Amino acid sequence: MNLIVARPEGLYCPPGDFYIDPWRPVERAVITHAHSDHARRGHRHYLAHTDSTGTLRIRLGADIDLQTLPYGEAIVHHGVRLSLHPAGHVLGSAQVRLEHGGQVWVASGDYKLQDDGTCAPFEAVRCDTFITESTFGLPIYRWPAQQVLFADIDAWWRANAQAGRASVLFCYAFGKAQRILHGVDAGIGPIVVHGAVEPLNAVYRAAGVRLPPTRRVTDEGVDAALLRSALVLAPPSAQGTPWMRRFGAYADAFASGWMQLRGTRRRRGVDRGFVMSDHADWPGLLQAIDATGAERVFVTHGSVAVLVRWLNEQGLQAQGFRTEYGEEDEADAASPPPAAAAAPPAAAAAPPGPA
Ligand SMILES: [Zn+2]
Ligand SMILES: [Zn+2]
Repeated sequence: MNLIVARPEGLYCPPGDFYIDPWRPVERAVITHAHSDHARRGHRHYLAHTDSTGTLRIRLGADIDLQTLPYGEAIVHHGVRLSLHPAGHVLGSAQVRLEHGGQVWVASGDYKLQDDGTCAPFEAVRCDTFITESTFGLPIYRWPAQQVLFADIDAWWRANAQAGRASVLFCYAFGKAQRILHGVDAGIGPIVVHGAVEPLNAVYRAAGVRLPPTRRVTDEGVDAALLRSALVLAPPSAQGTPWMRRFGAYADAFASGWMQLRGTRRRRGVDRGFVMSDHADWPGLLQAIDATGAERVFVTHGSVAVLVRWLNEQGLQAQGFRTEYGEEDEADAASPPPAAAAAPPAAAAAPPGPA
């Protein structure tokens, strides 16, 4: 029996009678992480990792019916043993391990292998069947090492500060922004964040993640003189809005895995692109899949066809799984380059029906 099947509501576990990251309202939802394309409103019961509590309540409401689990602790529901394991994607992100009838399945949610210091690092979980994401499932995607990335960001910020202009870095408010805060050299100058970013900083700090002091533009002392040496973190949606005017003649940049492609950088209309992702790159996907020891792999969001073909050539049973993820983080539909945008039709590889 398949422990997870694709249903119109989302990925479903028939023996356990619950869903994983469903996109339509259901009775029981296991949520891998609080990005809005995975954590949706309207479910009756939610189950997620303990560190997702803050972000889920901010985003879905303080009154959701939420049960939480620490990593590695199992519960049994209708005979299905369920546990959550670190996915290394954002604070509280988890892979879902299911065990039933002698089979082990793992649904990865979104994951990355680089340890960025802002969430528990990815942990490979042995299984028979692995459901992997594939947001950056093309061989062209290879991320720079953390130190190289942050040396580049610091150098850009320092040069701008010396020239007397603000450094506006566009990044997703949940995950990416905190990773940048944690990684930059806060000695270069003050750090100012958009109003969409600060509540998430608070959740990270409450979870014990070290972030440098951050200010809002409305805070006392944040004036034109201060902004000239500041690093400003803002979500992509702030680009081109009146909120930007206060920064004068600023330099801007965008932090995303899509920045690996010059065309995307040009379309975004920013001075600089930093290649930074909270998803696995191509070598990361292959390494993670290999480490599970799985014989069967279902591939969801992103460049499904290329990864499926590659895995089949390695002798694994691989196929696409149709999902509706990819609205908030970098799986953002507005961002994919033409190559990735062309791939999804292969996701039409028929998902297995209900068992
Ligand atoms: Zn995500
Ligand atoms: Zn996703």
